[in-house]
Amino acid sequence: MSIKNAYLQQLMETVEKRNAGDEQFLITVRSVLESVEPVVEAHPEYIEMGVMDLFVEPERVIKFRVPWVDDKGKVHVNRGYRVQSNSAIGPYKGGLRLHPSVTEDTVKFLAFEQTLKNSLTGLPIGGGKGGSDFDPKGKSDMEVMRFCQSFMNELYRHIGPDCDVPAGDIGVGAREIGYLYGQYKKLTGQYCGVLTGKGLSYGGSLARKEATGYGLCYYTEEMLKSFGKSFQGQTVVISGSGNVAIYACEKATQLGAKVVAMCDSNGYVYDPDGIDLDAVKLIKEVRRGRIKEYVADHPKAEYHEGCKGIWTVKCDIALPCATQNELDLESAKALIANGCFCVSEGANMPCTMEAIDAILSAGLYFGPAKAANAGGVATSALEMSQNSERLSWSFAEVDAKLKDIMVNIFHNVADAAQEYDFGNNFEKAANVAGFLKVADAMLAQGVC
Ligand code: NDP
Repeated sequence: MSIKNAYLQQLMETVEKRNAGDEQFLITVRSVLESVEPVVEAHPEYIEMGVMDLFVEPERVIKFRVPWVDDKGKVHVNRGYRVQSNSAIGPYKGGLRLHPSVTEDTVKFLAFEQTLKNSLTGLPIGGGKGGSDFDPKGKSDMEVMRFCQSFMNELYRHIGPDCDVPAGDIGVGAREIGYLYGQYKKLTGQYCGVLTGKGLSYGGSLARKEATGYGLCYYTEEMLKSFGKSFQGQTVVISGSGNVAIYACEKATQLGAKVVAMCDSNGYVYDPDGIDLDAVKLIKEVRRGRIKEYVADHPKAEYHEGCKGIWTVKCDIALPCATQNELDLESAKALIANGCFCVSEGANMPCTMEAIDAILSAGLYFGPAKAANAGGVATSALEMSQNSERLSWSFAEVDAKLKDIMVNIFHNVADAAQEYDFGNNFEKAANVAGFLKVADAMLAQGVC
């Protein structure tokens, strides 16, 4: 597949020159430009008014050093980022990731994707993303606190409840959000909804913790329903054992599926009786341990070193919920050979482009990340609404709104697939459905 429109081709060359070496960002921009080609041809004004040129250039890339002192008094310096990609339809919104693999490329590609994802939710939020190459794993609470405070010492200048509202992502959960929020409050003297994923005692929303995993299952259930299927009675494999994976497992099980495998970055567990989620929560949420501890009190379960093998476990539905590029062509082939009929992405860009092509060519149902995992950011936007109103909605109220949003996202994507003749390529359809609203808002706001 390639870009055929001459203007978009030339634009892609410019993007490649400007972002040389930013592999993930370039893959993502190319894939989105390929998808929106028919839309751009139907709307020459997007090119005439520079919308496409503006769209591929982040509004702002902020890069800063993050010095902190460990428990032994040694000084460390990490690098922090915030990329504010697009604010055409609302304040920048997107998570902060703390992981040694984080680079400017990672954050730029995630921020670009986030713009389209946030648009798909139907809520007024623009796209941003941030993070650092700091690894919270193995650090004490005090070290994590000192890092978060130092990170916020720079970030606070660039964010605000009506400007940019970060949230959690890999390595950033309730503990980190708490430390970041405390420091923001100290620096600005403001008690406001500047971060989401906050604790319930200081402005958080019920159901935010569950939202991405639950939302993934609501989206997937609606997709399956449209093909006459459901989670009921299906065998499911879920990669990861973090926030998204745990709550995807919870909801898939509630919807009647049996989840038989989960992993962390060291290896995976297979439990033929179905994963005992309380045990996983205890290991991961309470003890911050490793998934291999699961087998100690589950005699029928097996632990295998290395996480890639998880995709060789026979299943009907695969939900990759760990990290980007975790499901490659070889893994896709293994899933297909084992009779898997649906892959729905909980993580951001977990399937490589080659894997997606194989999944679509084999006729599997495919839930693309920017649609299927939009439940987290959607509920973050609901948290922003509650903060503005100074109200807290009940779990049931937030969960019902989340479900509505995910069902609507599926139908918007399915409608775009039909209108633009994309067949079962919901990846392309999601790009188009997200892009249209952003492009129209950019057009209306002029060259800025
Ligand atoms: P967490 O940090 O809570 O969990 C990540 C999980 O993935 C951990 O189990 C981790 O294992 C595992 N993991 C990390 N790297 C690898 C790897 N290379 N191979 C296998 N497993 C790996 O993150 P989240 O659950 O919050 O996020 C997961 C994904 O979902 C990310 O792509 C994120 O961007 C995306 N996402 C998250 C949202 C949210 O609301 N949290 C919203 C939308 C998307 P280990 O403990 O060993 O590191």
